Amino acid sequence: MQPPPTEVLLRDAQDPLAGARERFHLPEGLIYLDGNSLGPAPVGVFRELQHAVAEEWAGDLIASWNDAGWFALPRTLGARLAPLIGAAADTVLVCDTVSINLFKCLHAALALRPERRVIVAEQAGFPTDLYIVSGIVGTRPDLAMRLQGRDGATLEELIGGDTAVVLVNHVDYRTGALRDMAALTARAHEAGALILWDLCHSAGILPVALEAAGADFAVGCGYKYLNGGPGAPAFAYVRPDLAAQVQPALSGWLGHQAPFAFAAGYAPAPGIDRLRVGTPPVLSLAALDAALDAFDGVSLDELWSKGQALAALFLETVEAHAPPGALRLASPRDPAMRGSQIAFHCASGYAVMQQLISEGVIGDFRDPDIIRFGFAPLYLRFAEVEAAARRLGDILATRRWDRAENHARAAVT
Ligand SMILES: *Cc1c(COP(=O)(O)O)cnc(C)c1O
Repeated sequence: MQPPPTEVLLRDAQDPLAGARERFHLPEGLIYLDGNSLGPAPVGVFRELQHAVAEEWAGDLIASWNDAGWFALPRTLGARLAPLIGAAADTVLVCDTVSINLFKCLHAALALRPERRVIVAEQAGFPTDLYIVSGIVGTRPDLAMRLQGRDGATLEELIGGDTAVVLVNHVDYRTGALRDMAALTARAHEAGALILWDLCHSAGILPVALEAAGADFAVGCGYKYLNGGPGAPAFAYVRPDLAAQVQPALSGWLGHQAPFAFAAGYAPAPGIDRLRVGTPPVLSLAALDAALDAFDGVSLDELWSKGQALAALFLETVEAHAPPGALRLASPRDPAMRGSQIAFHCASGYAVMQQLISEGVIGDFRDPDIIRFGFAPLYLRFAEVEAAARRLGDILATRRWDRAENHARAAVT
């Protein structure tokens, strides 16, 4: 491969975030454009896990629930994460999975609008979001779901006087399209509906302003751009003035106002703590805690402008090198309209991605024909992104992706 052009090297030399790369363990020679699916391991995680196991668990055993702050971790981490999503420290809880938090928040929102029957969502939304909505509708035959892409062209036109809650992805997981949070939240509120934002592909990559937008609920992922590790706990946000009205559907003991009173009846904790369910996964929380150190001192505006610049460089280099017609852009062309992600429609996209991976560039494939690349600005260099784009162009031009072993599907794509 030829070396990167001088102007690309110059951009790395002038990058104010360049130093943050040292906060991550990245295998030598690999170009990792899949931080939107599983973030790489931050170096601080190794030490933190060693400490949590050797000192806290092995050494201090059960005393660590108090002494090492284990019990408070869902809230301590919520407070650390809050500035990344434009929320106050005591309005975010780190807990459970996105799917479970979606269930909890949807259920709570529906109970706050008992006279309304409709959940508005996106047909092209992340599948688990739709599955959770269908699951709830399945147990409540009085409810209905109305989907953008099936029942109407836009979310806005589907929101009406019968809408209880709107569930929407801030950044589309396939195309990277970015929604206007303030405008859509205002539209939902005008109709008297509540809104639940899924931040899986925006938290940790761009400035999110939940409180300023007046958002009611939000959920997001710990293992993508937040780099918390495989299966890292997710997070949930509830608008401060709504939290006291939330009736938890998963009324577990740790969401009780006095879990260690072991009372017979359930009474929810004040505020966001009522979204707690059961015993938290302490080791996973410890890993996420160390991972959040990677954001220390980082400006979200700088993060986003670098992410946009990386994505733009990738797009322009791919378009200069790929044969005409081999790829069709699935992402918005305007950087202001997308997250830090570029996706293309690509015939035989699975095989093309397999070939690219075998040549040291990791992206991923999403059915039916999307190849997807995430640009996490904390650790990526402009030179890597430029090289990855040229390699993709070259693979398409030579058709060397067309080998039998590239067509066999693995369980996780
Ligand atoms: C990754 C992702 C999820 C993951 O949900 P889990 O229950 O944590 O596995 C949910 N929604 C979106 C939009 C995602 O991108």
